[in-house]
Amino acid sequence: MRKLTEKRLVIATHNMGKLREISALLSPLGISVSSATDHGLIEPAETEDSFAGNARIKAHYAAEKTGLPALSDDSGLMVDALDGAPGVYTADWAETGNGRDYTKAMTMVWSQLQEKSAPEPRRAEFVCTFCLAWPDGHDELFEGRAAGRLVWPMRGERGFGFDPMFLPDSHSETFGEMDPEEKHRISHRAAAFAKLLAALPHD
Ligand code: IMP
Repeated sequence: MRKLTEKRLVIATHNMGKLREISALLSPLGISVSSATDHGLIEPAETEDSFAGNARIKAHYAAEKTGLPALSDDSGLMVDALDGAPGVYTADWAETGNGRDYTKAMTMVWSQLQEKSAPEPRRAEFVCTFCLAWPDGHDELFEGRAAGRLVWPMRGERGFGFDPMFLPDSHSETFGEMDPEEKHRISHRAAAFAKLLAALPHD
């Protein structure tokens, strides 16, 4: 595995929720971060059908444009009774043509489960793939998962995206209700980050 030697990273995302969580995970390591927005980058089209493929597109684009190592996150929610949907299309389910609406997206997920009379518990998994890419074209991938079940109505206003309907296993609060520090300990992003740590400089 190639290791990062620089203490600078571009976070290849325009998603403020992801940026906040990734910055919180990196800050104890003394790695300074800038975002895709800081560099004026556009969002490249995510044309692959896997988390790894789309994570690669975003990280390579940012590394090539900035000349700095870049870290991307491609993530999503996979619902067992929906055959893994929305999966890599998770963000698309929230698209309205005028920004993203996660209340709409969560309602769509729950309605589809109701239409199918899917049995309880309605099992689901959050998946996160990080891609660390260098300007010379090399990359490393790290994947993490968090298992749980979906609940309705949604609960909590913390976190972002689908957090208010996701109850992680062995917990009584949804990702939308729990303290962000607790989410950082147990989330799919934290699990991927634990693997990424091996490639990062730390004292
Ligand atoms: P991406 O930008 O294609 O990776 O989109 C990821 C989608 O999954 C977005 O709609 C996010 O809101 C959602 N998502 C990813 N991670 C989380 C999380 O930790 N909580 C809630 N939703 C998430």
